[in-house]
Order: sequence, then C-alpha cells, then structure tokens
Amino acid sequence: MAEQCRATPRVSDEGAGRRRRGRRRPVSCAGACLLRQSAHALRLEASRVTRPIQALRGDAVTFRADPFDRPSAECLVYQEDALVIIEDGRITSFGGHAETRHLLPEGLEPVHYTDCLISAGFVDAHVHYPQMQVIGSYGAELLDWLTTYTFVEEQKFADPAHAAMVAGRFLRELLRAGTTTAMVYCTVHPQSVDAFFAESSLWNTRMIAGKVLMDRNAPAALLDTAQRGYDESLDLIDRWHGKGRQHYAVTPRFAPTSTEAQLDAAGALLTTRDDLFLQTHLCENLKEIEWVRELFPARSSYLDVYAHSGLVGRRSVFGHAVHMHEGDFCICHQAGAALAHCPTSNLFLGSGLFPLFEAVDPTRPVRVGLGTDVGGGTSLSQLQTLNEAYKVAALKGRKLDAIQAFYLATLGGARALYLDDRIGRIAAGFDADLCVLDLKATPLIDFRRQVCRDITDLLFVLMTLGDDRAVRATWVAGECVYDRERPEPFRYPAASA
Ligand SMILES: [Zn+2]
Repeated sequence: MAEQCRATPRVSDEGAGRRRRGRRRPVSCAGACLLRQSAHALRLEASRVTRPIQALRGDAVTFRADPFDRPSAECLVYQEDALVIIEDGRITSFGGHAETRHLLPEGLEPVHYTDCLISAGFVDAHVHYPQMQVIGSYGAELLDWLTTYTFVEEQKFADPAHAAMVAGRFLRELLRAGTTTAMVYCTVHPQSVDAFFAESSLWNTRMIAGKVLMDRNAPAALLDTAQRGYDESLDLIDRWHGKGRQHYAVTPRFAPTSTEAQLDAAGALLTTRDDLFLQTHLCENLKEIEWVRELFPARSSYLDVYAHSGLVGRRSVFGHAVHMHEGDFCICHQAGAALAHCPTSNLFLGSGLFPLFEAVDPTRPVRVGLGTDVGGGTSLSQLQTLNEAYKVAALKGRKLDAIQAFYLATLGGARALYLDDRIGRIAAGFDADLCVLDLKATPLIDFRRQVCRDITDLLFVLMTLGDDRAVRATWVAGECVYDRERPEPFRYPAASA
C-alpha cells in the first residue's frame, strides 16, 4: 500500500503541501465589546498564580503507545490504586500509591476517588459550539440540515450576548462530559470567537477554535468576503493564538461555501504563523461531494480542492472523511493531516460509515481523532461517541476494541491535533487535564461491572452504557473545575459567565 502511495499522487506538486504566500495587510475591525472581552480574559490569565500541589488517588488508565499499530494489551497502562501528583497545572508524578506516596508534601491528603477510574481528559476533534441548541433536529440530510437549522441558528451569534451565553453553556457541558480539549467551529462573526475564547480562558481549558469563513452559498447575513474573512481571522489570531492555552484554527466551513479566492486566503493565513491549525469538512455526504465536483471541475478530488490552496498539512483536521479513496488517505498520511471521525453525526444525518481501520492502516497510517460534531452529532459525550464508533466499525466488518476506543478519545485525539506532547496521557510533564469516571454511575453500570473479567471488559461497559452521568469529576490544568458531588458542581457557576 505504501508503494501505491508513491505511485498515485492525486494533487499537483504545487498543492501537495502548504504554499508560502505573502502576508496581506491586516485591518483592525474589532469593536469595543470585543476588546473588552479580550481584556477580561487577559486579566484572568495574569491573575493566575502558581497553584499549590494537588494529588488524586484511585485506579487509573492511560496509554504508552498506539493500539492501532501494535497489540492493544501492550499499549494500555492500568494502574490500580494510583497516585497522580500535580504542581502548577502539570503532572509531576504518576505511579502506584504505595510506591510514590513518599513524594507527597507532608500533610497533603490526595483526593481519593473510590469506585472510579481516572483517565486523561477526553479530546473532541470536531464540534460546533453555536449548534448546541439545535442538537437533535429532525429529519434532514447534510445540505438541507445546514439550511433548515444551522444557518438559521448561527445568525443569532451576531449578538455578542447570545454568543457569550451559549459559549458558557457549551464549556460547562463539555466539562460535564469529561472533555477538556476540543477543536471548535464558531460562526462567521468574530464576536462568536471572542466569546468562546473568553469563556475558555476563564476555565483555563486548552482549546482550538476559529471564525468560520463563508463567501458564497449561505444566507447574506452569514457571508464575509475573501479579504474580510482574511482580515478578521488575522485580527483574531493576533488576539488569541498562543494566549494562555488558546489556539487558533483557520476555519473555512467547507468547499461549497468558499470561493477559490477565499480558500487561497485561508492558505495565506496559515503561512502567517508556524503553528496555526486548519479545520474544515471533507467527503461527508455523497450529494455534497457531487456539488464540490460541479463547483471545482478542474480539481481531481474534493481533497485536491483544499490541497490546491495549501490547506493540507500538519495541524489540518478534516471532519468526517466518510467517502474517501485510497489516494486521499495516502495524501493525508504524507502531509501529516488528520481526520475527525464523527460517528453519531454520520449515523444521525445518514451520511455513511467512516472506514476507520482503512484510515489507520499501519502501512500508511492517517492520524484520526474522535469528533462529536454537535449539532449534527447527538451527544457531547465521548463515551457515547465511542458507543457509536464501535457499531460503525462493526458494520464495516471490524471490531473496535475498548483499548483502541479509549486511545481515540484521549491520546489518539491529542496526536491528531499535534498536542500529544502536552495532553492525552497521565504522565509526568503532561498537563493535568483529567476526568474521573464513576464505576457506579448508574444502577445498570454498577450491576454489569460486577461480572467484568478485566479492565478491558470494564472499559467496554463504560463506553457502551456510559455518558455524562459516568463522569464524577473533571480537572483542568490541575484544578478540579467540575465535581458532580459538590453542591455547585462547577468551579464557575453559570451566573458568573
Ligand atoms: Zn461539522
């Protein structure tokens, strides 16, 4: 298969990587309220001081390697009665409690989670925060779903107060589901991005987000132009990228809603910094693919449309990629681009079945993360997303084992986002982003687990029966920001948003 990769390139050399382009003139257009939000977030950042040492105790799971590349059992680390020690937001020690408790400062009692499983926080590689309120909208396929529900809802985000309200709810729902990092689409409005990053800065979550670029085939109220989209994105990059734990993603929605000029402008944006992200949609639905063929007749494939504008490279994440050819996978492998597998959305909208095991073929592996794709997806819970990922794989004739599944939701997702040196594992040096799963979350989970034979069995039960109810607590950068057992579960109550 690697031979085929070399033999059948489907894009021109010009488009195979990111092209270098000159930086265009940035134009400042931020309104007063946007600057106020930004200043608020920066004040929060400045007010964070070195945090005291913290520790968690309980059974824990994490990963040492990729279970799509070697036997699953070699990749999982399962530590009974583990101790996780955290200093200034980072993990400084992870090991058995008996062996490592001497490292605890005198008098520090770890937070002891019994009948629980501590994991790295979940990573959601594809989600739309403005669509949270249209989750579960009836009866449409992708293109009519966009016009009937999404484009109507997204117009509300012209109002900064609405954007701030939804961003506040969205962050809380993510944390309730144990998700600590997400790659997030905002709307075409810059204020929707400011609202999201301001909220994420409040929680100190590591998030990737960007302003949607659309200059055709959408309602006039949601359109920008190639130049305006460029200028507004550049302002947002200057304002947010690398501020605390925030990262910017250049975000053309998908090929049908951008002219070639706008896709080229997106490619130019990517050359302005070394570490920007790119997110868009790819090969989700057959009608969509046909439409792209009509709109870009000179391109050899849907992926080639993006490659031609310099959008296929490291830190590029393509949502869905359900209907891919071998040549597409080869290009993604060679470029280091990633795919976001969004099973609940693909089933809900009837888009198709993602060929996971073809994508991660060890002879030319493509990086794959797991996306909820809310509101096309039906849950913000990565456990529920894994539940559907298992069924999608089964319908493709393969079995997704529980170790592979939890890898996708944690370290695999981090690797897809090129953040696997900071998040996705419980290990010394990694950010202390953790979720604590409750093995007695529901009577049925508690009853079922009593006959589990081993940790693999238990993980599979959690991903089949679990959802946000299975998350006891969520830690972000060493701080317990959500604990279901507290009178007010969230570190920042909703009223303070
Ligand atoms: Zn999407």
